[in-house]
Amino acid sequence: MAKIFCVANQKGGVGKTTTTVNLAAGLAKVGQRVLLVDLDPQGNATMGSGIDKRQLELTVYDVLLESASITEAAIFSDKCGYHVVGANRELAGAEVELVDLEHRDQRLKLALAAVQNDFDFVLIDCPPSLSMLTLNGLCSAHGVIVPMQCEYFALEGLTDLVNTIKQVHANLNRDLKIIGLLRVMFDPRITLQQQVSEQLKSHFGDKVFNTVIPRNVRLAEAPSYGLPGVVFDPSAKGSHAFVEFARELVERIPTM
Ligand code: ATP
Ligand code: MG
Repeated sequence: MAKIFCVANQKGGVGKTTTTVNLAAGLAKVGQRVLLVDLDPQGNATMGSGIDKRQLELTVYDVLLESASITEAAIFSDKCGYHVVGANRELAGAEVELVDLEHRDQRLKLALAAVQNDFDFVLIDCPPSLSMLTLNGLCSAHGVIVPMQCEYFALEGLTDLVNTIKQVHANLNRDLKIIGLLRVMFDPRITLQQQVSEQLKSHFGDKVFNTVIPRNVRLAEAPSYGLPGVVFDPSAKGSHAFVEFARELVERIPTM
């Protein structure tokens, strides 16, 4: 049965999409069957997986409105080695359209149930908000992976997310928990980052992943080639780190 994880943080630009596409590629590299679901109308994870969001016939929007199944909407990215249910601007409308519908927060969960034996991992890239889209992600998932930069306000920002996850856990999805915090864009030369990293570890213990993703320009360049860094430049430091992270996640599964 597939493990379903949301990559979420309501803060913008913290590395959610970079984490989702590179973790997907890393997991595929170590032999896992992966489905990436893009829940962000920006469609960055779609484009970053080599799929043109403007050319899509079926997207996650159709899945949420029950006019397509996951199997119908999923596209295999040859270059990346994983399946993608893409998103584009059309998805922004789903927010409004879902409001009057039944089980509006459970739509993705119901759709994913049909493919749970086809994949080992489902990774959901969430938008930078705690919207109905993110809620659909959180209701479908077994857990949340939280990418974060080790900056001054990092811990404060986490409080909102942790509270939201607690509420969803209590009211909507008993399975949901934080799988782990992933330190990203890390620069060990910056003392503050080291300090915040230590704070995170003392606060959250083994909820902090061992793997640290360094700041690495190759990871930032890769999206303009429509590829995850792991595929674009496998020898880059950041790419190594993401494959290592994929291994760490696979190893953690039996303890979850
Ligand atoms: P949004 O909230 O808009 O969805 P996001 O949380 O998905 O943003 P990303 O798009 O993954 O964040 O990353 C923000 C920017 O930081 C991008 O330009 C990305 O290329 C860059 N970036 C992410 N991770 C790294 C890294 N480890 N090293 C260097 N640059 C990075
Ligand atoms: Mg993003």
